[in-house]
Amino acid sequence: MDKKTLDQFRILLEARRNALREALARTEKDGRAPEEDFAAQDIADRAANSSQKELLFAQSRAERQMLNQVESALSRVREGSFGVCITCENDINPKRMEAVPWAVHCVGCQGKIEQGLIEADA
Ligand SMILES: [Zn+2]
Repeated sequence: MDKKTLDQFRILLEARRNALREALARTEKDGRAPEEDFAAQDIADRAANSSQKELLFAQSRAERQMLNQVESALSRVREGSFGVCITCENDINPKRMEAVPWAVHCVGCQGKIEQGLIEADA
């Protein structure tokens, strides 16, 4: 991958990382909403409140996973291994990198992982 393309991916990934950090901070803040008036809520409110919390928890976990993937993609940019399949070490199709810039497997290896033929060693 040439330096210009790599730079474009780096910029894109950094923007994504910043957006995810903000989203995560917001989700975690919402998940810690004050509970002083908890006793005043009726049962339906409490149920709604706790399922809302579960939702926020699931959301923050998904955001954190995504953030991890984006951050490791950024470190691969720095190490020069960005765009290279970690399993077969072939270049990953540029179209795939555009669609999924944090991809660590080429389409072939990804397919094998999904079929359970090889281990995902990410
Ligand atoms: Zn591969």
